[in-house]
Amino acid sequence: MNVEFSERANRIKASEIRELLKLTARPEIISFAGGLPAAELFPLESLAEISKEVILQEGKTALQYSTTEGFNDLREVILKQRLAKVGIFATLDEIFITSGSQQALDFTGKLLINEGDQVIVESPTYLGALNAFLAYAPSYVEIPLEEDGMDLDLLEEHLKSGLKAKFLYTIPDFQNPSGITMSLEKRKRLLSLANQYDLIVIEDAPYAELVLEGDQLPPLKSMDTEGRVIYLGTFSKTFTPGLRIGWVVGHPKIIHKFIQIKQGSDLQTSSLDQRIAARYMLQYNLDEHIELIKKVYKNRRDVMINAMRASFHKDITFTDSKGGLFTWVRVKETMDTKLIMEEALARNVAFVPGASFFASGDKKNYMRLNYSCMPEEMIEIGIRRLAEVLNKYY
Ligand code: PMP
Repeated sequence: MNVEFSERANRIKASEIRELLKLTARPEIISFAGGLPAAELFPLESLAEISKEVILQEGKTALQYSTTEGFNDLREVILKQRLAKVGIFATLDEIFITSGSQQALDFTGKLLINEGDQVIVESPTYLGALNAFLAYAPSYVEIPLEEDGMDLDLLEEHLKSGLKAKFLYTIPDFQNPSGITMSLEKRKRLLSLANQYDLIVIEDAPYAELVLEGDQLPPLKSMDTEGRVIYLGTFSKTFTPGLRIGWVVGHPKIIHKFIQIKQGSDLQTSSLDQRIAARYMLQYNLDEHIELIKKVYKNRRDVMINAMRASFHKDITFTDSKGGLFTWVRVKETMDTKLIMEEALARNVAFVPGASFFASGDKKNYMRLNYSCMPEEMIEIGIRRLAEVLNKYY
Protein backbone atom coordinates (compact mmCIF):
# COMPACT_ATOMS: atom_id res chain seq x y z
CA MET A 1 0.00 0.00 0.00
CA ASN A 2 1.25 3.44 -0.87
CA VAL A 3 -0.27 6.31 1.04
CA GLU A 4 1.08 9.79 0.74
CA PHE A 5 0.02 12.02 3.61
CA SER A 6 -0.68 15.67 2.97
CA GLU A 7 1.83 18.26 4.10
CA ARG A 8 -0.75 19.29 6.69
CA ALA A 9 -1.01 15.76 8.07
CA ASN A 10 2.75 15.51 8.23
CA ARG A 11 2.90 18.65 10.34
CA ILE A 12 0.61 17.10 12.95
CA LYS A 13 2.55 15.43 15.74
CA ALA A 14 1.37 13.06 18.43
CA SER A 15 0.84 14.99 21.64
CA GLU A 16 3.74 14.16 23.88
CA ILE A 17 1.44 14.38 26.87
CA ARG A 18 -1.00 11.81 25.52
CA GLU A 19 1.90 9.43 24.78
CA LEU A 20 3.24 10.00 28.28
CA LEU A 21 -0.14 9.43 29.86
CA LYS A 22 -0.09 5.92 28.43
CA LEU A 23 3.11 5.23 30.35
CA THR A 24 1.77 6.75 33.54
CA ALA A 25 -1.45 4.74 33.61
CA ARG A 26 0.20 2.01 35.69
CA PRO A 27 -1.53 1.97 39.09
CA GLU A 28 1.72 2.20 41.07
CA ILE A 29 2.64 5.52 39.42
CA ILE A 30 2.10 8.77 41.29
CA SER A 31 1.25 10.92 38.33
CA PHE A 32 1.58 14.69 38.26
CA ALA A 33 1.55 14.41 34.47
CA GLY A 34 -2.07 14.72 33.34
CA GLY A 35 -4.19 17.83 33.25
CA LEU A 36 -7.23 15.97 34.37
CA PRO A 37 -9.87 17.17 36.78
CA ALA A 38 -10.49 14.89 39.78
CA ALA A 39 -12.92 12.21 38.58
CA GLU A 40 -14.09 11.36 42.10
CA LEU A 41 -15.76 14.78 42.17
CA PHE A 42 -17.91 14.30 39.06
CA PRO A 43 -21.59 14.67 40.07
CA LEU A 44 -22.49 11.11 39.05
CA GLU A 45 -25.83 10.72 40.83
CA SER A 46 -27.34 13.91 39.47
CA LEU A 47 -25.97 13.24 36.00
CA ALA A 48 -27.44 9.73 36.02
CA GLU A 49 -30.84 11.10 36.94
CA ILE A 50 -30.69 13.87 34.39
CA SER A 51 -29.49 11.61 31.58
CA LYS A 52 -32.46 9.34 32.18
CA GLU A 53 -34.87 12.27 32.21
CA VAL A 54 -33.41 13.70 29.01
CA ILE A 55 -33.74 10.41 27.15
CA LEU A 56 -37.23 9.60 28.44
CA GLN A 57 -38.66 13.12 28.19
CA GLU A 58 -36.93 14.60 25.15
CA GLY A 59 -35.22 11.59 23.58
CA LYS A 60 -36.65 12.17 20.12
CA THR A 61 -34.88 15.52 19.85
CA ALA A 62 -31.95 14.66 22.11
CA LEU A 63 -30.98 11.78 19.84
CA GLN A 64 -31.77 13.58 16.58
CA TYR A 65 -29.56 15.87 14.48
CA SER A 66 -29.63 19.41 15.72
CA THR A 67 -28.36 22.89 14.81
CA THR A 68 -24.67 23.55 14.24
CA GLU A 69 -24.53 26.58 16.53
CA GLY A 70 -25.76 24.50 19.47
CA PHE A 71 -28.78 23.92 21.69
CA ASN A 72 -30.44 27.28 22.47
CA ASP A 73 -31.17 26.53 26.14
CA LEU A 74 -27.54 25.60 26.67
CA ARG A 75 -26.23 28.72 24.96
CA GLU A 76 -28.65 30.83 26.98
CA VAL A 77 -27.71 29.28 30.28
CA ILE A 78 -23.99 29.74 29.53
CA LEU A 79 -24.61 33.39 28.65
CA LYS A 80 -26.56 33.93 31.86
CA GLN A 81 -24.75 31.77 34.37
CA ARG A 82 -21.13 31.76 33.24
CA LEU A 83 -20.54 34.81 31.07
CA ALA A 84 -22.71 37.65 32.42
CA LYS A 85 -21.26 37.19 35.90
CA VAL A 86 -17.76 37.93 34.62
CA GLY A 87 -18.90 40.93 32.65
CA ILE A 88 -19.29 39.34 29.22
CA PHE A 89 -22.71 40.43 27.99
CA ALA A 90 -23.31 38.66 24.71
CA THR A 91 -26.31 37.70 22.60
CA LEU A 92 -27.20 34.36 21.02
CA ASP A 93 -25.62 35.29 17.69
CA GLU A 94 -22.32 35.88 19.50
CA ILE A 95 -21.92 32.38 20.93
CA PHE A 96 -21.73 28.85 19.51
CA ILE A 97 -21.08 25.46 21.08
CA THR A 98 -17.96 23.44 20.28
CA SER A 99 -16.90 19.89 21.11
CA GLY A 100 -14.57 21.15 23.83
CA SER A 101 -12.34 24.18 23.41
CA GLN A 102 -9.76 22.01 21.68
CA GLN A 103 -12.09 22.03 18.68
CA ALA A 104 -12.30 25.81 18.92
CA LEU A 105 -8.49 25.97 18.72
CA ASP A 106 -8.44 23.88 15.55
CA PHE A 107 -11.24 25.99 14.06
CA THR A 108 -9.32 29.15 14.94
CA GLY A 109 -6.38 27.87 12.92
CA LYS A 110 -8.69 27.02 10.03
CA LEU A 111 -10.44 30.39 10.25
CA LEU A 112 -7.39 32.62 10.43
CA ILE A 113 -4.06 31.04 9.50
CA ASN A 114 -2.62 31.00 6.00
CA GLU A 115 0.70 29.21 5.59
CA GLY A 116 3.49 31.37 6.99
CA ASP A 117 1.21 33.78 8.90
CA GLN A 118 2.63 35.02 12.16
CA VAL A 119 0.88 34.00 15.35
CA ILE A 120 1.87 35.46 18.71
CA VAL A 121 1.96 33.00 21.60
CA GLU A 122 3.02 33.09 25.21
CA SER A 123 6.24 31.29 25.97
CA PRO A 124 5.56 28.72 27.34
CA THR A 125 1.98 27.99 26.26
CA TYR A 126 -0.56 25.16 25.97
CA LEU A 127 0.97 22.52 23.75
CA GLY A 128 -2.44 21.42 22.45
CA ALA A 129 -2.88 24.91 20.98
CA LEU A 130 0.59 24.93 19.45
CA ASN A 131 -0.12 21.57 17.80
CA ALA A 132 -3.62 22.53 16.65
CA PHE A 133 -2.40 25.73 14.98
CA LEU A 134 0.67 23.98 13.56
CA ALA A 135 -1.50 22.04 11.11
CA TYR A 136 -2.11 25.37 9.34
CA ALA A 137 1.64 26.16 9.20
CA PRO A 138 1.94 29.45 11.08
CA SER A 139 5.21 31.00 12.07
CA TYR A 140 5.24 31.48 15.86
CA VAL A 141 6.37 34.65 17.59
CA GLU A 142 7.06 33.75 21.21
CA ILE A 143 6.60 36.32 23.96
CA PRO A 144 8.06 35.18 27.28
CA LEU A 145 5.85 35.14 30.35
CA GLU A 146 6.73 37.21 33.38
CA GLU A 147 5.28 36.68 36.85
CA ASP A 148 2.23 38.76 35.92
CA GLY A 149 1.75 37.60 32.34
CA MET A 150 3.26 38.30 28.92
CA ASP A 151 6.22 40.64 28.56
CA LEU A 152 4.24 43.46 27.00
CA ASP A 153 7.26 45.73 26.54
CA LEU A 154 8.68 43.13 24.20
CA LEU A 155 5.32 42.67 22.47
CA GLU A 156 5.08 46.41 21.94
CA GLU A 157 8.60 46.50 20.51
CA HIS A 158 7.66 43.80 17.99
CA LEU A 159 4.46 45.62 17.04
CA LYS A 160 6.26 48.97 16.73
CA SER A 161 8.83 47.46 14.45
CA GLY A 162 6.11 46.28 12.09
CA LEU A 163 5.11 42.76 13.23
CA LYS A 164 1.86 41.91 11.44
CA ALA A 165 0.45 38.96 13.33
CA LYS A 166 -2.74 37.16 12.37
CA PHE A 167 -3.70 36.85 16.03
CA LEU A 168 -2.36 36.64 19.56
CA TYR A 169 -3.20 33.57 21.65
CA THR A 170 -3.28 33.94 25.43
CA ILE A 171 -4.44 31.98 28.48
CA PRO A 172 -4.78 34.85 30.96
CA ASP A 173 -5.88 32.83 34.00
CA PHE A 174 -3.78 30.18 35.77
CA GLN A 175 -2.08 29.40 32.51
CA ASN A 176 -1.34 25.92 31.26
CA PRO A 177 1.48 25.05 31.85
CA SER A 178 2.88 27.85 34.01
CA GLY A 179 0.04 28.55 36.48
CA ILE A 180 0.68 32.26 35.85
CA THR A 181 -2.15 34.83 35.75
CA MET A 182 -2.07 38.05 33.76
CA SER A 183 -2.49 41.08 36.02
CA LEU A 184 -5.38 43.50 35.53
CA GLU A 185 -2.93 46.19 34.47
CA LYS A 186 -1.48 43.95 31.77
CA ARG A 187 -4.94 42.90 30.59
CA LYS A 188 -5.79 46.56 30.01
CA ARG A 189 -2.47 47.28 28.32
CA LEU A 190 -2.72 44.22 26.09
CA LEU A 191 -6.15 45.31 24.91
CA SER A 192 -4.98 48.82 24.28
CA LEU A 193 -2.04 47.48 22.21
CA ALA A 194 -4.44 45.19 20.34
CA ASN A 195 -6.66 48.18 19.54
CA GLN A 196 -3.73 50.33 18.52
CA TYR A 197 -2.17 47.71 16.23
CA ASP A 198 -5.42 46.09 15.06
CA LEU A 199 -4.68 42.68 16.52
CA ILE A 200 -7.16 39.82 17.01
CA VAL A 201 -6.85 38.21 20.45
CA ILE A 202 -7.80 34.62 21.26
CA GLU A 203 -8.57 34.38 24.98
CA ASP A 204 -8.56 30.76 26.15
CA ALA A 205 -10.13 30.59 29.61
CA PRO A 206 -10.60 26.98 30.79
CA TYR A 207 -9.20 27.65 34.27
CA ALA A 208 -10.61 31.14 34.91
CA GLU A 209 -13.21 29.92 37.40
CA LEU A 210 -10.81 27.72 39.37
CA VAL A 211 -9.69 30.52 41.65
CA LEU A 212 -7.98 29.05 44.71
CA GLU A 213 -6.76 32.32 46.21
CA GLY A 214 -7.74 35.94 45.64
CA ASP A 215 -10.30 37.26 43.17
CA GLN A 216 -11.19 36.29 39.62
CA LEU A 217 -9.92 38.98 37.26
CA PRO A 218 -12.13 40.34 34.46
CA PRO A 219 -11.66 38.49 31.18
CA LEU A 220 -10.16 40.44 28.28
CA LYS A 221 -13.46 39.89 26.46
CA SER A 222 -15.36 41.85 29.14
CA MET A 223 -13.21 44.91 28.33
CA ASP A 224 -13.23 44.46 24.56
CA THR A 225 -14.97 47.42 22.95
CA GLU A 226 -14.00 46.60 19.35
CA GLY A 227 -15.08 42.97 18.95
CA ARG A 228 -11.47 41.86 18.54
CA VAL A 229 -11.37 39.28 21.33
CA ILE A 230 -12.49 35.72 20.61
CA TYR A 231 -13.24 34.05 23.94
CA LEU A 232 -13.05 30.27 24.45
CA GLY A 233 -14.83 28.61 27.38
CA THR A 234 -15.34 24.99 28.40
CA PHE A 235 -16.98 22.79 31.03
CA SER A 236 -13.99 20.45 30.98
CA LYS A 237 -12.31 21.69 34.16
CA THR A 238 -15.32 22.88 36.13
CA PHE A 239 -17.76 20.07 35.36
CA THR A 240 -16.71 17.06 33.23
CA PRO A 241 -14.40 16.88 30.20
CA GLY A 242 -16.11 13.76 28.86
CA LEU A 243 -19.23 15.66 27.81
CA ARG A 244 -16.97 17.61 25.41
CA ILE A 245 -18.76 20.93 25.69
CA GLY A 246 -17.06 24.21 25.01
CA TRP A 247 -18.14 27.57 23.62
CA VAL A 248 -16.81 30.44 21.59
CA VAL A 249 -17.91 34.04 22.11
CA GLY A 250 -17.10 36.64 19.50
CA HIS A 251 -18.34 39.19 17.00
CA PRO A 252 -21.38 37.80 15.06
CA LYS A 253 -19.43 38.04 11.79
CA ILE A 254 -16.71 35.80 13.22
CA ILE A 255 -19.15 33.37 14.86
CA HIS A 256 -21.06 33.04 11.59
CA LYS A 257 -17.88 31.90 9.80
CA PHE A 258 -16.94 29.57 12.65
CA ILE A 259 -20.35 27.89 12.34
CA GLN A 260 -19.73 27.23 8.65
CA ILE A 261 -16.42 25.63 9.58
CA LYS A 262 -18.08 23.48 12.23
CA GLN A 263 -20.69 22.36 9.73
CA GLY A 264 -17.98 20.92 7.53
CA SER A 265 -16.23 19.33 10.47
CA ASP A 266 -18.83 17.52 12.61
CA LEU A 267 -22.19 19.17 11.83
CA GLN A 268 -22.83 19.74 15.55
CA THR A 269 -21.77 18.86 19.08
CA SER A 270 -23.68 15.86 20.50
CA SER A 271 -27.35 16.81 20.99
CA LEU A 272 -27.59 14.44 23.93
CA ASP A 273 -24.55 15.85 25.74
CA GLN A 274 -25.73 19.42 25.21
CA ARG A 275 -29.16 18.64 26.64
CA ILE A 276 -27.70 16.82 29.63
CA ALA A 277 -25.41 19.75 30.35
CA ALA A 278 -28.20 22.31 29.92
CA ARG A 279 -30.55 20.44 32.23
CA TYR A 280 -27.83 20.12 34.86
CA MET A 281 -27.15 23.86 34.73
CA LEU A 282 -30.87 24.60 35.10
CA GLN A 283 -31.70 22.08 37.84
CA TYR A 284 -28.51 22.13 39.90
CA ASN A 285 -26.06 24.78 40.93
CA LEU A 286 -22.75 24.59 39.07
CA ASP A 287 -21.32 27.34 41.26
CA GLU A 288 -21.79 25.13 44.31
CA HIS A 289 -20.09 22.28 42.49
CA ILE A 290 -17.18 24.56 41.55
CA GLU A 291 -16.83 25.63 45.20
CA LEU A 292 -16.50 21.97 46.17
CA ILE A 293 -13.86 21.29 43.51
CA LYS A 294 -11.91 24.38 44.52
CA LYS A 295 -11.75 23.28 48.16
CA VAL A 296 -10.25 19.94 47.19
CA TYR A 297 -7.79 21.46 44.70
CA LYS A 298 -6.71 24.14 47.13
CA ASN A 299 -5.76 21.53 49.73
CA ARG A 300 -3.89 19.52 47.13
CA ARG A 301 -2.10 22.57 45.85
CA ASP A 302 -1.11 23.59 49.38
CA VAL A 303 0.27 20.14 50.07
CA MET A 304 2.28 20.16 46.84
CA ILE A 305 3.69 23.67 47.29
CA ASN A 306 4.57 23.04 50.94
CA ALA A 307 6.19 19.72 50.11
CA MET A 308 8.26 21.36 47.35
CA ARG A 309 9.29 24.17 49.70
CA ALA A 310 10.35 21.64 52.31
CA SER A 311 12.20 19.17 50.10
CA PHE A 312 13.42 20.80 46.84
CA HIS A 313 16.89 22.35 46.74
CA LYS A 314 16.60 26.11 47.34
CA ASP A 315 17.69 26.96 43.78
CA ILE A 316 14.77 25.08 42.25
CA THR A 317 11.96 27.57 41.65
CA PHE A 318 8.26 27.01 41.00
CA THR A 319 5.03 28.97 40.50
CA ASP A 320 2.99 29.59 43.60
CA SER A 321 -0.17 29.15 41.49
CA LYS A 322 -3.25 30.97 42.74
CA GLY A 323 -5.62 28.74 40.80
CA GLY A 324 -6.02 26.19 38.05
CA LEU A 325 -4.39 22.78 38.01
CA PHE A 326 -0.66 23.29 37.60
CA THR A 327 2.59 24.46 39.01
CA TRP A 328 5.64 24.97 36.81
CA VAL A 329 9.06 24.04 38.07
CA ARG A 330 12.37 25.45 36.86
CA VAL A 331 15.57 23.52 37.42
CA LYS A 332 19.19 24.26 36.47
CA GLU A 333 19.72 25.23 32.83
CA THR A 334 22.10 22.35 32.31
CA MET A 335 19.42 19.81 33.25
CA ASP A 336 17.10 18.15 30.73
CA THR A 337 13.78 17.26 32.33
CA LYS A 338 13.10 14.60 29.69
CA LEU A 339 16.04 12.64 31.09
CA ILE A 340 14.91 13.45 34.63
CA MET A 341 11.51 11.99 33.70
CA GLU A 342 13.14 8.62 33.04
CA GLU A 343 14.71 8.66 36.49
CA ALA A 344 11.45 9.76 38.06
CA LEU A 345 9.50 7.02 36.28
CA ALA A 346 11.93 4.48 37.67
CA ARG A 347 10.75 5.73 41.08
CA ASN A 348 7.13 5.61 39.97
CA VAL A 349 6.61 9.35 39.71
CA ALA A 350 5.55 11.15 36.53
CA PHE A 351 5.34 14.75 35.34
CA VAL A 352 5.42 16.47 31.95
CA PRO A 353 8.81 17.71 30.73
CA GLY A 354 8.47 21.38 29.77
CA ALA A 355 10.15 21.57 26.35
CA SER A 356 7.04 20.87 24.29
CA PHE A 357 5.24 23.87 25.80
CA PHE A 358 7.71 26.17 24.03
CA ALA A 359 6.93 26.86 20.37
CA SER A 360 10.62 26.55 19.58
CA GLY A 361 10.99 23.56 21.93
CA ASP A 362 14.36 24.83 23.11
CA LYS A 363 13.96 25.11 26.87
CA LYS A 364 14.66 21.81 28.55
CA ASN A 365 14.89 22.80 32.19
CA TYR A 366 11.21 23.06 33.10
CA MET A 367 8.53 20.63 34.17
CA ARG A 368 4.78 20.85 34.66
CA LEU A 369 3.24 19.33 37.76
CA ASN A 370 -0.49 18.78 38.15
CA TYR A 371 -1.96 18.77 41.64
CA SER A 372 -5.65 18.14 40.98
CA CYS A 373 -5.87 14.39 40.67
CA MET A 374 -3.73 12.83 43.38
CA PRO A 375 -4.78 12.44 47.01
CA GLU A 376 -2.79 14.56 49.44
CA GLU A 377 -0.73 11.75 50.95
CA MET A 378 0.34 10.60 47.48
CA ILE A 379 1.34 14.15 46.57
CA GLU A 380 3.64 14.27 49.59
CA ILE A 381 5.26 10.96 48.74
CA GLY A 382 5.59 11.85 45.05
CA ILE A 383 7.23 15.22 45.73
CA ARG A 384 9.66 13.62 48.17
CA ARG A 385 10.69 11.09 45.53
CA LEU A 386 11.02 13.83 42.92
CA ALA A 387 13.18 15.86 45.31
CA GLU A 388 15.54 12.90 45.66
CA VAL A 389 15.92 12.76 41.89
CA LEU A 390 16.36 16.53 41.41
CA ASN A 391 18.49 17.46 44.41
CA LYS A 392 21.27 15.10 43.30
CA TYR A 393 22.09 17.58 40.54
CA TYR A 394 22.73 20.46 42.95
N1 PMP B 1 -7.07 25.10 26.32
C1 PMP B 1 -6.26 24.86 27.36
C2 PMP B 1 -5.37 25.94 27.86
C3 PMP B 1 -6.28 23.60 27.98
O1 PMP B 1 -5.46 23.38 29.03
C4 PMP B 1 -7.15 22.60 27.50
C5 PMP B 1 -7.24 21.22 28.12
N2 PMP B 1 -6.12 20.68 28.61
C6 PMP B 1 -7.96 22.90 26.40
C7 PMP B 1 -7.90 24.16 25.84
C8 PMP B 1 -8.90 21.89 25.79
O2 PMP B 1 -9.93 21.59 26.64
P1 PMP B 1 -11.31 20.93 26.20
O3 PMP B 1 -11.21 20.59 24.74
O4 PMP B 1 -11.46 19.72 27.04
O5 PMP B 1 -12.35 21.96 26.46
